[in-house]
Amino acid sequence: MLKLTDLRGSRRDPRGILPRAQLDVSVAVERIRPVVEAVHQRGFAAIQEATSRFDGVELTRLRVPKEAITAAGEALEPEIREALLESIKRARKVHRDQRRSDVTTQVVDGGTVTERWVPVERVGLYVPGGLAVYPSTVVMNVVPAQEAGVDALVVASPPQKENGGLPDARVLAACALLGVDEVYSVGGAQAVAMLGYGSDGADEGDRCEPVDVITGPGNIWVTAAKRLLQGTVGIDAEAGPTEIAILADETADPRHVAADLISQAEHDPLAASVLVTDSEALIASVEAALAPMVAATKHAERVRTSLTGEQSGVVLVDDLEQGLAVVDAYAAEHLEIQTRDARQWAMRVRNAGAIFVGAWSPVSLGDYAAGSNHVLPTAGCARHSSGLSVQSFLRGIHVIEYDEAALKDVAKHVVTLANAEDLPAHGEAVQVRFGR
Ligand code: NAD
Repeated sequence: MLKLTDLRGSRRDPRGILPRAQLDVSVAVERIRPVVEAVHQRGFAAIQEATSRFDGVELTRLRVPKEAITAAGEALEPEIREALLESIKRARKVHRDQRRSDVTTQVVDGGTVTERWVPVERVGLYVPGGLAVYPSTVVMNVVPAQEAGVDALVVASPPQKENGGLPDARVLAACALLGVDEVYSVGGAQAVAMLGYGSDGADEGDRCEPVDVITGPGNIWVTAAKRLLQGTVGIDAEAGPTEIAILADETADPRHVAADLISQAEHDPLAASVLVTDSEALIASVEAALAPMVAATKHAERVRTSLTGEQSGVVLVDDLEQGLAVVDAYAAEHLEIQTRDARQWAMRVRNAGAIFVGAWSPVSLGDYAAGSNHVLPTAGCARHSSGLSVQSFLRGIHVIEYDEAALKDVAKHVVTLANAEDLPAHGEAVQVRFGR
């Protein structure tokens, strides 16, 4: 089922050879640009048109009434409430530890630089809801924003026909559990544009004030819109269609490997599942396990499309050293290490959104209840970006305070560097303070 790439004996840079989707974000950006521009220019009316076209829902208002959020919270099934509360508790524990204190550095006598960590004022949190619905993503977005101290949190999630054009009831219930009451029934690129540019409207139900930062995962269209809005607002990493890479040797349990490949393929036909191994025997046993497991899984068709797509496959390597180079080149959103001495291999990985170590830490644990964040960089962005964290909602502001003697002491160096850059007025701004 999985296409094989045999890298044994190869010294080539694996980057161009590894399985990757052809529909990349830059292509998708051009397709959704008209939607984003229309929302910028025409606000609510353009959001209604896009929602009718892409979600098949005729929106009468953008904002979910507060009573609907409260009602969804009250109607939530007890086991789901319990599971969400456990997920929130663990996520809070991890994200609380990420908070930063302001740091003052005494650079010289009379001269300090303080780094103040200041939360952004208003954030837009995207919660997907196309092929699946994601109350867990409410937790993963809201908890770090709250722990960062953000004042205004806004959630946008696609309207569901089955819920009368409101977002999924469990998504609303998760908002209620976390005390979020500003929620919009908008999904896709139009939601990202609405959050970034805002939307005017006659009454509160059709209006959304623009935010400062947009975070959260989504399909390729959501990811493309975030790239387009970057600069107008801050965004977290591009967290698009899910990926799992598994680095495994012959000690891995093939049923675990197969189940974990399937679990991420279930998200999206564009999701990527990649096995990297030095064991031909493991490949054979994973393939044997996959066939009946795929046939039996609920979303078999989506899983099969994703596993047989160009973005998924098996990479056969000479040994785990080469395997490590391959997973670093791939820079997966989720990387599992199912090898002997798994922790040691994990500690040597440079590029991954999150690393899951050993047989008892599957990606599904991280999706819901490990305490870690599941909003993670995809499509190789883990080479330069991190998953969502408290840090995503903070800005570090330097506060510089020198007294007269400390400035005088360094003045000649400032003047020299200003002159070297042919910006003499910079030097004069210092000299004027000392009567020159
Ligand atoms: P979604 O909310 O991301 O997308 C649904 C929206 O897409 C709809 O509201 C619709 O308006 C829009 N849309 C649908 N078809 C379109 C088209 N042809 N052109 C323009 N817009 C269109 O929900 P989803 O589709 O279920 O996708 C969720 C995605 O989130 C999956 O790809 C999943 O793998 C990913 N995900 C990623 C992470 C991460 O951290 N990287 C975490 C969770 C989920």
